[in-house]
Amino acid sequence: MPAKTAIPDTRALLATAVTSVGGAERQGQVEMAEAVDHSIRTGEHLAVQAGTGTGKSLAYLVPSLRHAVAEEATVVISTATIALQRQLVDRDLPRLSKALKKELGREPNFAILKGRRNYLCMHRLHSGAPEEPDDGALFDPFAVSRLGREVKRLHEWSSETETGDRDELVPGVTEQAWKQVSVTARECLGVAKCPIGVDCFAERARAEAGKADVVVTNHAMLAIDAIEGFQVLPEHDVVVIDEAHDLVDRVTSVATEELSAAAIASAARRCGRLIDQSVADRMVEASEGLAMLLEDLPVGRMDELPRALAGTLAAVRDASHACISSLGPERKEDVEGATNRKLALSLLEEVHDGAVRILDAFDDERDVVWVSGDFADRGRAPTLRVAPLGVGGLLREKLFGKRTTVLTSATLTLGGTFDTLARQWGLPASSQNRRAEGTATEKEPPSDSAPIRWTGLDVGSPFQHGSSGILYVARHLPPPGRDGLPPSYVDEIEGLVNAAGGRTLGLFSSMRAAKAAAEALRDKVEYTVFCQGDDATGQLVKKFAEDPRSCLFGTLSLWQGVDVPGPSLQLVVMDRIPFPRPDDPLASARQKAVSERGGNGFLTVAATHAALLLAQGAGRLLRSMNDKGVVAILDPRLATARYGGFLRASLPPYWTTYDPEVVRAALKRLDAAVEAGK
Ligand code: SF4
Repeated sequence: MPAKTAIPDTRALLATAVTSVGGAERQGQVEMAEAVDHSIRTGEHLAVQAGTGTGKSLAYLVPSLRHAVAEEATVVISTATIALQRQLVDRDLPRLSKALKKELGREPNFAILKGRRNYLCMHRLHSGAPEEPDDGALFDPFAVSRLGREVKRLHEWSSETETGDRDELVPGVTEQAWKQVSVTARECLGVAKCPIGVDCFAERARAEAGKADVVVTNHAMLAIDAIEGFQVLPEHDVVVIDEAHDLVDRVTSVATEELSAAAIASAARRCGRLIDQSVADRMVEASEGLAMLLEDLPVGRMDELPRALAGTLAAVRDASHACISSLGPERKEDVEGATNRKLALSLLEEVHDGAVRILDAFDDERDVVWVSGDFADRGRAPTLRVAPLGVGGLLREKLFGKRTTVLTSATLTLGGTFDTLARQWGLPASSQNRRAEGTATEKEPPSDSAPIRWTGLDVGSPFQHGSSGILYVARHLPPPGRDGLPPSYVDEIEGLVNAAGGRTLGLFSSMRAAKAAAEALRDKVEYTVFCQGDDATGQLVKKFAEDPRSCLFGTLSLWQGVDVPGPSLQLVVMDRIPFPRPDDPLASARQKAVSERGGNGFLTVAATHAALLLAQGAGRLLRSMNDKGVVAILDPRLATARYGGFLRASLPPYWTTYDPEVVRAALKRLDAAVEAGK
């Protein structure tokens, strides 16, 4: 066999890549690429914070491609958002693969892999097994006819699409319609039994991923693969987790289950046609029992399992088990029979597993159980939910214990240290800020009992935060109350928006506050004020970016998802420190658990949550090298409370002022400069 030509090192490959895309060498990018390369070679995990403008995707893609080609291995890249997935697959990876073809000896290939639910299931589409409709939809003729139109459109689309990927369907369809033509992993017949077989879109995507050097996926898939133990990703020894600040929340979502009377009734209807009616009727009775009980239970966290609920859950568990037994083992039946059996079985297993998990939750205290639902407000029936108290143990054992992991984001240090997030990931804390190394000391070891080594690296940001941005804390305002937005806050926003000449992104801690501010401002200022909910969020962001004198107000998804460089965004206003609501069941349970272990529950859980969101929100301001502006936080507690220092240390290092005159004058100057430059 001819000897392989040596592949140049990561630094040389990065230089080639940067030149080919017409960029210049950036110190932070080089530092990050070399650290990722070191992590891949040594197996030591890496958490790397890289500010906007670092070019971090190139910094991890180059060493990843190098490793994949040199070792004939697969590297998995996981993202939290579809926007980043698109950027990687549609822009960065195609350009990079071509640019590095010569040095790598061949053009590397890549694939995107999503959950089975994201792909059109041709078998479901043609077998016509309908989704059980929502109770509400049954009585709404408009919903029924819209559903019919959407399903018809999906049938037409099925003969045009090459990928069956839901994200490529424009405009999209409702969840209800999509459910009619897709299956979950549990509902899938399996490629061996399905008449569509290898022509299935999901199977084709998996096959492509199996051959790829780099597979791009999302945090949920990563969690299902690593933590839930279903092998949905190809074998890989390295995983890069971008937008890692969202990892814990996404993993928690995957590990959250719910149980409602409607779900039990739906499972009963599905299996009723396949088994003895008297057995299915036990499920109907259990569903009615749960519905009655849940109506009387208060919404919120449950610290003890009420005796009546324990009895009902046991009845649900036993009834679903009886139905599963009645369905019997798989038979050589016709395809239609197999499909109906599989759909029924998957619903029954969900109900059964949910009931068992909730019953067990009160013994081992690893899970938190709560009742959710706001029937009075929005007609949502009460539902039982169960989620893990923490996911650090799972991540440590199933992710860090098994493969080399690189975590990256613009926000990984909180209060100036990686330790806060490291603890949530299950990594041992370390004492250094900028470059921290740690060895596992906690009692629960990883799966192979080896210590977990990791390094934290902050490569900084190319932006000059101190001279480009001002942090204004409205120390003179009263602390925010419980009853909506105080009038003094509205006046403050009005003064700031007028000084900025529009150009404002308003990030509010609740939709109610965002709407109240938008309504009030529309009467007071001459600029257009868009508010989240008026249109699809993507459309609103587009309109806001196109009209520099407009404002956009909204809540959580805007805190993290807006990328508007240039003069349309020179002011970010936040109404209050975004602590979790005191009645948030998971946050309050986590806080209680930390306090019971002798720690500071508030600082560890609530302040950390707030710090992450504040840093993300403040990061909306500077998006390109020429951007300048103000981050205004109206909540005076950022300046006056004891935890204020921790929160401020989590924000980019903007120049800070408490003086409203100073900040309004600065905003006016920025506005005038934009106008003069036209
Ligand atoms: S293999 Fe599964 S997902 Fe694919 S067409 Fe068949 S049932 Fe649908």
